[in-house]
Amino acid sequence: MGIRTGAEFIQGLRDNREVWLGNERVKDVTTHPAFRASIESLAHLYDMQHDPTLQSQLTYPSPTTGNPVGLSFLIPHSREDLVRRRQMIKLWADATCGMMGRSADFLNSMITAWAAKKEYFAQQSPECADRVWRYYEHCREHDLFLTHALIDPQVDRTKNRAEQDDPYLCLGIVKETTQGLIVRGGKMLATAAPFADDIYVWPFPPTLTEAETRYALTFSIPVATPGVKVLCREPFNHPGQYADHPLSARFDEMDAVVVFDDVLVPWDRVFLHGNPRLVAGAYPMTRVRELTAHQTNTRLLSKIEFVYGVLCAMAEAIGVQNTPPVQEMLGEAASYVEIIKSALLAAEMQAIVDPSNGVTYPALQPLQVGRVWGPRIYPRLMEMVRRLGASGLMQPPATLAAFDSPIGDTLRKYYRGAKVSAEDKQSLFKLAWDLVGTDFGSRHTLYEFYYAGDPSMISAGFHREFDKQGCIDRVREFLAKTAA
Ligand SMILES: Cc1cc2nc3c(=O)[nH]c(=O)nc-3n(C[C@H](O)[C@H](O)[C@H](O)COP(=O)(O)OP(=O)(O)OC[C@H]3O[C@@H](n4cnc5c(N)ncnc54)[C@H](O)[C@@H]3O)c2cc1C
Repeated sequence: MGIRTGAEFIQGLRDNREVWLGNERVKDVTTHPAFRASIESLAHLYDMQHDPTLQSQLTYPSPTTGNPVGLSFLIPHSREDLVRRRQMIKLWADATCGMMGRSADFLNSMITAWAAKKEYFAQQSPECADRVWRYYEHCREHDLFLTHALIDPQVDRTKNRAEQDDPYLCLGIVKETTQGLIVRGGKMLATAAPFADDIYVWPFPPTLTEAETRYALTFSIPVATPGVKVLCREPFNHPGQYADHPLSARFDEMDAVVVFDDVLVPWDRVFLHGNPRLVAGAYPMTRVRELTAHQTNTRLLSKIEFVYGVLCAMAEAIGVQNTPPVQEMLGEAASYVEIIKSALLAAEMQAIVDPSNGVTYPALQPLQVGRVWGPRIYPRLMEMVRRLGASGLMQPPATLAAFDSPIGDTLRKYYRGAKVSAEDKQSLFKLAWDLVGTDFGSRHTLYEFYYAGDPSMISAGFHREFDKQGCIDRVREFLAKTAA
């Protein structure tokens, strides 16, 4: 019990799960070329926890066994705990250039938030609070890798869940048995589902009318449960082509629709059900947003630092780093790094202790800045990569192995940069294209736009919740003075 090695994580995925890649039922995700490299990248994160130079930064002693467990399970009781959590998350994010948004620390943060607010679940029943806590301990002690599936199938967004043609298009309760709930229906879009241990399910957006009682449920279940089907999109990786596709060959997280065909969810994994008010309230009332946004902003920071680094290297590679328009653009990119970093630090500086459980939470409003700005910043950074790279993005040879071929010397003459070799420049520009132009790169722009929900709803919600009365009062006071 305690932290797993990468090999143990991989071994745990050999469990006859039902994963579909087009018309192929995948026999073993750990050896399949569509998944193997991404699984190895995740396995590396588990191995990092065993590195003696990193272990104290990535783990803490289990409150039950004393063995090291993942630090993203730490329930924060001080500002220092928040800083430790951020530093742990950043170490993992940096190891994947920020490209694996759903590394285990994301869901770990979510279930940690829920465990810290287990009393919320006691409103359904005392057993539910107990289940949430025991599940959190189970994940922490077994170092599980979770994904989540929240969104209803994208069929007709003008209708609520109960109004769809098929009552079980959206995931709902078929019946209650002595063993648990039988559930049926589909959920989108579970990133990393083919190689997760468990899937956490709850409805998002958390809007549920009384007519949608059947769809009001929150539970978790192993991916390998009978009746759970994981339907993958086309892979965006390039097996083995690590030099030519430095990001997509390693970090394609895979996204999947998950279909539940009359799946039995045992009672000890049912956390809320049949109560639309409680299920809808769980998102804002359990402070899950605070701990997850602390993770997502840290991961975003890692990624945009990396992109900024790519932009700087590209500018130098073609000798334009000192020209005013390029410097202006790079300054704008640097300011985005600083916006997200400042939001994180401000959230920690303004951390609050919740009197109901004594837990220290980062302040929500600064963290929401990351959720509002992420969808704007990332596409803008990609525009900069395209603008700076220009035709250079279309220059790299089909494979860098061309440098070792009879055409190599010709490439070395025409493909070099201002002060970099042709090999280095083309490696860099292949990286840039993987960021912005490949199907992997396009997916990342979509991811940053939508992963936290519809950005227009996030922005509108930020305004609605914003502590704005002081601003409005100042305007009224000013007008009153000028009128006097
Ligand atoms: C790469 C990627 C990874 C993801 N990973 C995960 C994951 O791991 N787990 C998870 O649960 N989810 C995941 N998501 C899903 C994500 O949460 C959703 O994409 C996001 O919440 C938006 O919902 P949607 O995609 O269903 O868009 P939709 O709700 O279908 O919206 C599509 C468009 O229609 C508009 N629209 C929607 N409803 C209405 C309406 N009633 N009236 C007018 N306009 C409307 C929206 O503004 C939007 O422009 C992922 C998404 C992406 C793209």
